[in-house]
Amino acid sequence: MKQTLFSSLRLKPKLLQNLSSLGYEAMTSIQVQSLPHILAGKDVIAQGKTGSGKTAAFTVGMLEKLNVKFFRVQSLVLCPTRELADQVAKEIRKLARTTQNIKVLTLCGGMPFGPQAGSLEHGAHIIVGTPGRIEDHLRRGTLMLNNVSTLVLDEADRMLEMGFQDALDAIIDQIPAQRQTLLFSATYPQRIQSVARRIMIKPVMVQVASTHDNTTIQQHFYRVNDNKQRLTALRLLLLQYQAESTLVFCNTKRETQEVADELHHYGFTALALHGDLEQRDRDETLVRFANKSASILVATDVAARGLDIEAIDTVINYHIPHDAEIYVHRIGRTGRAGSKGVACSLYSDNERYKVALLDANVDPIIDSEPLPPLSLLDKQVMQASMATLQIDGGKKQKVRPGDILGALTGKNGIAGKQVGKIHISDNRAYVAVSREAVNSALKKIADGKLKGRSFRVRLIRD
Ligand code: AMP
Repeated sequence: MKQTLFSSLRLKPKLLQNLSSLGYEAMTSIQVQSLPHILAGKDVIAQGKTGSGKTAAFTVGMLEKLNVKFFRVQSLVLCPTRELADQVAKEIRKLARTTQNIKVLTLCGGMPFGPQAGSLEHGAHIIVGTPGRIEDHLRRGTLMLNNVSTLVLDEADRMLEMGFQDALDAIIDQIPAQRQTLLFSATYPQRIQSVARRIMIKPVMVQVASTHDNTTIQQHFYRVNDNKQRLTALRLLLLQYQAESTLVFCNTKRETQEVADELHHYGFTALALHGDLEQRDRDETLVRFANKSASILVATDVAARGLDIEAIDTVINYHIPHDAEIYVHRIGRTGRAGSKGVACSLYSDNERYKVALLDANVDPIIDSEPLPPLSLLDKQVMQASMATLQIDGGKKQKVRPGDILGALTGKNGIAGKQVGKIHISDNRAYVAVSREAVNSALKKIADGKLKGRSFRVRLIRD
């Protein structure tokens, strides 16, 4: 396939250099198709799956247009969830790192309001946030959008599904009509079309290769007789693929917890992610899955929204979802940005009608395959390669990743390659270390100092 390079666009040299230093030379399909229109100032509707490179597409457009010297909110990006907003803000900061003095702020629900209002007083160029919280700021007069010239709706379909229509309307009402509106959505149902008609002007439609492309995501379907066999089937698939990261989707919160508990019982490091978890447990679960301390995450669709974890090897549908769009979203979690993925779906006879729906709407090649042999159940369950240590100090205590890395790998410490991802929240830090290095790592942190003081540390048990 012919490649189109970023350098073929007329971008600011610094931005181009930065893209190249990040390893972004060739554009992804959504970028090739949408960027010329975005740069020309047109409204664009882009329908592409997660992992298509959509964030970079709108960010490059935003950065090209931004006037850093004019210290007002010029771009607003709305996302359905905090996780997605954080992910988007991270990508924007990465792409903007050669633009001096640019300020990107995230404003999401579930976080204290006061500090956000404080940051806003200092001003920002780009705001990324969730509709509910942005609306709150507008209502309380802590945010002004009268200088916004680019509005981005990311995962617009999800935002509508989550009931953000009213909040979106209230927000868009405060943005000048003379603006560029970019709408990204994995699917393009009727509701999105009507929103687009209301808020966009002559939008250009961009569609990238369909999500059921069997060359990037291999789809497999397995028929099971009942729920007992369903669980066995799940174990067989997990043992067969032995993947580092597997996302298992359930249709209900209760089932999510039950399946995670059962898997745990059989020796798998599986975590449940559903709406009943406290925010802190939810964050901890995501950190442990992303840093490879747990190889299996069992989640509901709601909980998995906006979840952006790179490199999910396998997605398993414990049940077929209620509609084809959800199926597309689920399997789109794997096979991202060019890597190959596997999606397995289990169904029983009374779910056949749902499979037929997929056949009609998604067009995968639905041929039921035999399950892996039962003898696999004797196989040793593969343990996650890492384990997570929790340190009772975070951003507020000024603990930084470099401090932790330094403490772990200092004199008589563990090897740098035994340290995995480090995640720092307000009052805590989580660091992944190789399982064989856990004891030494615990000792190094407990006996050593971070920022000149001692912090408590513990291993988060499987
Ligand atoms: P997104 O669809 O925005 O979630 O992007 C998926 C991933 O692809 C992100 O991790 C980006 O950093 C990466 N990415 C986006 N555009 C490019 C590109 N042109 N070349 C290489 N990687 C890219």
